[in-house]
This record gives sequence, structure tokens and C-alpha cells, in this order.
Amino acid sequence: MRRHGNLEYGCHAAPQRTCVGCRVRTDKSELLRLVLVEDQVVPDLRGRLPGRGASLHPSMSCLELAERRRAFSRAFRVPGPLDVSRVRAHLEGEPRNVM
Ligand SMILES: [Zn+2]
Repeated sequence: MRRHGNLEYGCHAAPQRTCVGCRVRTDKSELLRLVLVEDQVVPDLRGRLPGRGASLHPSMSCLELAERRRAFSRAFRVPGPLDVSRVRAHLEGEPRNVM
């Protein structure tokens, strides 16, 4: 018996987001919400910053993938290269980063 992917968790309505790095859909709670403040991508740790957000796994490899794909400028709909140093600093100091 095969199950259709989108019905698998039909009774759980956990919100899902796609990671802008690896493009995997995951529970929103597993992902780090990022917002754009001027030209800087910053982690929205309390989920309170306004504006368009992007979701990323809290991992360096996903950050690098996202950078390589220019996923941030696509997610935030801005042309330029964006500064992700605050996200990187956050991930470097994040114990969950090393699994
Ligand atoms: Zn990811």
C-alpha cells in the first residue's frame, strides 16, 4: 500500500516550511526564521520581527547552500547579494549545529 506524501500527516496540522538551503520541507519549529533588516539577513530568534521571512535549518551546510543558490535574495525579493554574517555568527555559536 502506498501512501500519498501529502496525506501522511493529515491529522497533524503542524505548519511546514521549506528550508531555503536544502529545499526540504520540515516542521516550522525545526527551522530558523530569517528576516531582512536593511541589507542584512538576521535570525529572528523570537519570531517577532516583521516582514517577509525565510526559513533555514540551523546548520552551516544549509546556509552555504542557500548562499550559493542566492536563495536569500530570491526569498526576500531583492536583487543584491545579502550579508549573512549575522546568521553565520549565530550558527557558529549554536550548539545544535554540531550533531
Ligand atoms: Zn536545510
